[in-house]
Amino acid sequence: DRIIAAELAQNDIELETALRPRTLSEYIGQNSVKEKLRIFIDAAKQRHEALDHVLLYGPPGLGKTTLANIIANEMGVNIRITSGPVIERAGDLAAILTNMAEYDVLFIDEIHRLNRAVEEILYPAMEDYALDIVIGKGPGARSLRIDLPHFTLIGATTRAGLLTPPLRDRFGVINRLEMYAINELKEIVIRSAYLLKVGIDERGACEIARRARGTPRVANRLLKRVRDYAQIKADGIITYDVAKAGLDLLEVDELGLDEVDRKMLSIMIDKFGGGPVGLDTLSAAVNEQADTIEDVYEPYLLQLGFIDRTPRGRIATRLAYEHMGIPFEDR
Ligand code: ADP
Repeated sequence: DRIIAAELAQNDIELETALRPRTLSEYIGQNSVKEKLRIFIDAAKQRHEALDHVLLYGPPGLGKTTLANIIANEMGVNIRITSGPVIERAGDLAAILTNMAEYDVLFIDEIHRLNRAVEEILYPAMEDYALDIVIGKGPGARSLRIDLPHFTLIGATTRAGLLTPPLRDRFGVINRLEMYAINELKEIVIRSAYLLKVGIDERGACEIARRARGTPRVANRLLKRVRDYAQIKADGIITYDVAKAGLDLLEVDELGLDEVDRKMLSIMIDKFGGGPVGLDTLSAAVNEQADTIEDVYEPYLLQLGFIDRTPRGRIATRLAYEHMGIPFEDR
């Protein structure tokens, strides 16, 4: 039941579904992405066309799945949700595509994890709305082209660089989601508290927002835990004092760092004199997968300016030393 976990537990999924905004105007922050999408959606609807294929990338929990659902909702079409590792064979994808209706949205999360054979089916599907199927084997084999509905593919990935160039080139719209500012996270926390019917004041919401690592998913998880604390230890209302006490208990520090972040920093500082430290070394030392470190932990530490990436590995900056209470001069 971790706050910054890479995988979602079942009760997380229920919470997220309940808190998900349904329209672009309800979706807080990401203003430039929203502005562009609003124009593309309105234009596609006016022309009675499918929306261009959209690639969304950025760290987990920033709202990619939410945005895909919103796009389908705003287009007034159905959405089919799947993910790269789930589609094992080309036939699985062909079955999904042939079952879609005109202008429907297909959302593929972790699209960088599609296997080669499946990815190749996607190229003509995205470009020409067609499936090329080979029937039979050997000299008698024939190729057959099946027309597909005009659909919109929305792909999500943590890093755009993980996609193969031919796949990336087939997206007409490529959007990077940014980490959220504290005032935006505060708005998200207040909205979620309202939906969860928990009392919260401005400063209580701000304290949760400050420790949410720029990530709505983390903000909602922290809110849920602080709600429990407020219910048992206080009178149910989340004030600044309640939020602070509840969050301290979770061992999420004032900047939102948890024990893994702090362990990463202390290993870089104590064992490697501030670095550079290679990703694999770091991964072994904190017992987290290298991917999780790169996708979940590093983006926030980079954003805070606590680490830098160099060709030889990661280094801890002066700010990291200061946060850990270790004199930078002692390196
Ligand atoms: P991703 O697909 O990028 O991992 P999600 O779309 O699943 O992230 O978002 C995680 C949760 O955060 C959602 O359930 C939603 O409640 C909340 N959320 C994300 N973005 C926003 C936003 N812009 N405004 C309000 N809530 C958001």
